[in-house]
Amino acid sequence: MREKPVIRFNEQKTSEMKQLMKDLTLHTVCAEATCPNLGECFSSGTATFMILGSHCSRNCRFCDVTFGNMQPVNPKEPQNLAEAVEKLGLNHVVVTSVARDDLPDGGASQFAETIQAIRAKNADTTVEVLIPDLMGDTEALDAVIAAKPEIINHNIETVRRLSPFIRHRATYDRSLSVLAYVKEQAPDIFTKSGLMLGLGETEEEVLTAMDDCLAAGVDFFTIGQYLQPSKKHFPLKEYVSLRQFGKYRREGMKKGFKFIASSPQVRSSYKALEAYQKGVMQ
Ligand code: SF4
Ligand code: SF4
Repeated sequence: MREKPVIRFNEQKTSEMKQLMKDLTLHTVCAEATCPNLGECFSSGTATFMILGSHCSRNCRFCDVTFGNMQPVNPKEPQNLAEAVEKLGLNHVVVTSVARDDLPDGGASQFAETIQAIRAKNADTTVEVLIPDLMGDTEALDAVIAAKPEIINHNIETVRRLSPFIRHRATYDRSLSVLAYVKEQAPDIFTKSGLMLGLGETEEEVLTAMDDCLAAGVDFFTIGQYLQPSKKHFPLKEYVSLRQFGKYRREGMKKGFKFIASSPQVRSSYKALEAYQKGVMQ
């Protein structure tokens, strides 16, 4: 692991990163969504890239990504992304995507090629993939597993009761089965999942969701605050208190997760490197 990340956060670095992304036709969630954690993540040498285009084949009620009109897959994307990781000197890279139900493998092969390309150019960089459910297709999941990322993340997003109201095509049980399948096939790969709060879930439901994820072998868990992107999106029910986020972190650690990030500004990739390092040490 590199001790001193090349990248340091400041406005100039962010604009340099945006230019690099433009040159390589890549997208980071960090810069494009102006993530509140950008300074902290860049300082630790972590960034999140979106592959497979910016249009999604699903229309989840909490999400602001454009629905439909999916873009062609860019065959150069894996190499371009590996080059960006090298230029930015990243210690930990998170690769995520929209859901591509229009592709025969849901985009699994693009994930696999991207992991391999990053590895080939950046032997010390740890790789985390935040994948869609790939319709629970085990062949597609096998392709991602075979590329051996350090972490496979798949979010359950919300508690069981609310899933049908906010997620499109994804189900709570299929997400759990995806996580369980990864752990069964590759016990050495860390698995990760997470929830957004503020959608009307109860404390009991959140604790049950943690139990369900632990039963599926999940190692790391993230909990953040839902922010309603527009009036058309699923209504925000509450801003959960810092105290409650703290309680969930303590309860989750007691239950047995290896790492939990729980606070309003947490996103799936927040403190991703720290989670990995804690997991390795246990
Ligand atoms: Fe990027 Fe994720 Fe960090 Fe936000 S939390 S800056 S999206 S790595
Ligand atoms: Fe957004 Fe993912 Fe749902 Fe697509 S599948 S709408 S990217 S949350």
